[in-house]
Amino acid sequence: MLTQAPKGTKDIFGADMPIWQKIESKMRSLCKNFGIEEIRTPIFEHTELFLRSVGDTTDIVQKEMYTFNDKGNRSITLRPESTAGVARAYIEHGMHNNAQPTKLFYIAPTFRYENTQAGRQRQFHQFGIEMFGSYSPALDAEVISAAASLIEELGIKNIELRINSLGGPECRAKYNKMLKDFIGGNIDHLCKECKERYERNPLRVLDCKEEGCKKIIEKAPSVLDCLGVECKEHFETLKSILDEMGIKYVVDPQIVRGLDYYTRTVFEFVTTSIGAQGTVCGGGRYDGLIEECGGQKTGAVGFGLGMERLILTLEAQNGKEEYKPERHIYIGSIGNTGFIKSQAITLSLRKAGIIAECDTVGRSVKAQMKYANKIGAKYSVILGDDEIANDKVSLKNMETGETEEIKVSMLEEKMKEVFNK
Ligand code: ATP
Ligand code: MG
Repeated sequence: MLTQAPKGTKDIFGADMPIWQKIESKMRSLCKNFGIEEIRTPIFEHTELFLRSVGDTTDIVQKEMYTFNDKGNRSITLRPESTAGVARAYIEHGMHNNAQPTKLFYIAPTFRYENTQAGRQRQFHQFGIEMFGSYSPALDAEVISAAASLIEELGIKNIELRINSLGGPECRAKYNKMLKDFIGGNIDHLCKECKERYERNPLRVLDCKEEGCKKIIEKAPSVLDCLGVECKEHFETLKSILDEMGIKYVVDPQIVRGLDYYTRTVFEFVTTSIGAQGTVCGGGRYDGLIEECGGQKTGAVGFGLGMERLILTLEAQNGKEEYKPERHIYIGSIGNTGFIKSQAITLSLRKAGIIAECDTVGRSVKAQMKYANKIGAKYSVILGDDEIANDKVSLKNMETGETEEIKVSMLEEKMKEVFNK
């Protein structure tokens, strides 16, 4: 217990870290180009927020939330997704007073009590974008194009964008009725959970992953046939913009997404490279959410992308990248004066942008050189009494074995020149 992380959680470090940093930095620069600003909301929120926004007929609320009472006896929940918290922040800080749309992104640890398997953890990470303040399909296209650009830039293959429209409340009511009639005729063949879903929220049945239910759902009526004129027009314009942008998609009327708050556009990016948990990114428009949470009626679109699934996909396609931390120079030492001086020289080199290391263990000279080799230092020196007295040190190129005499005081200049700093 003491030496094992809780089930469904993972330590990310060492050889696993570079890909996270690479992807996160791509996400940040992409958002900069799109004018999307970062937001960091609390890891926990009032439970009520998720009941209201995510919806109490969803799997998340019914089965997956980490909910507890704090010492003040408030019901608190670790965020199972971030849209609710970002929407809460949008209202709380009166962001609707700013020039609209408001465009935000986050990279956030997220918590769901789930059965763990590849691509399904209890603590995982989502990169997400949320945009508020417009009902135009152009905003849907902007959000989708941000996700598509990221996926393109990362060079992910075998991934498909699927889009659908759930319409507005009126279309939804019409469809719910049609769907209920259809499911009613097949109710005996559905799984136990779907029988309940049928009563409370028939749309959820379309999201079921049981093979038996999936088979029946295939023949279900299409929500697209229930769209009113405006919703239809919204969907058509979105498709025209995506076509013009050169973003490929398929229309899939079965996509409903696992959350209650979606209206009109919903979409997913699905890959065939990582087995059953193939949905890397899911999102949609949620025009009712801000009002539901106590704000003014506000058009909004967003998505959440699972970082772990994205990384699994990348590594399934390209293999794992070689892990090679960079070290420019090792400042070894002999004797006490050299030892003390090497610490200060290392610091000034680091301040100048050179990745420098020195002995902080008290190793012999031989052991220091072995260490310098092990960490892949490109250069090394050994600083002793003579070197300090004569301001001269032998700079060794660790790859070629060549040495060069230089002034100790010139070490920084030399390294800056070699490493272009
Ligand atoms: P699924 O159908 O796979 O359970 P979901 O519909 O619950 O997914 P969303 O709530 O839309 O997923 O979350 C967006 C993305 O977050 C998913 O597409 C996925 O990449 C990722 N994700 C969701 N749950 C997990 C989890 N338990 N572990 C890792 N990633 C997850
Ligand atoms: Mg889920």
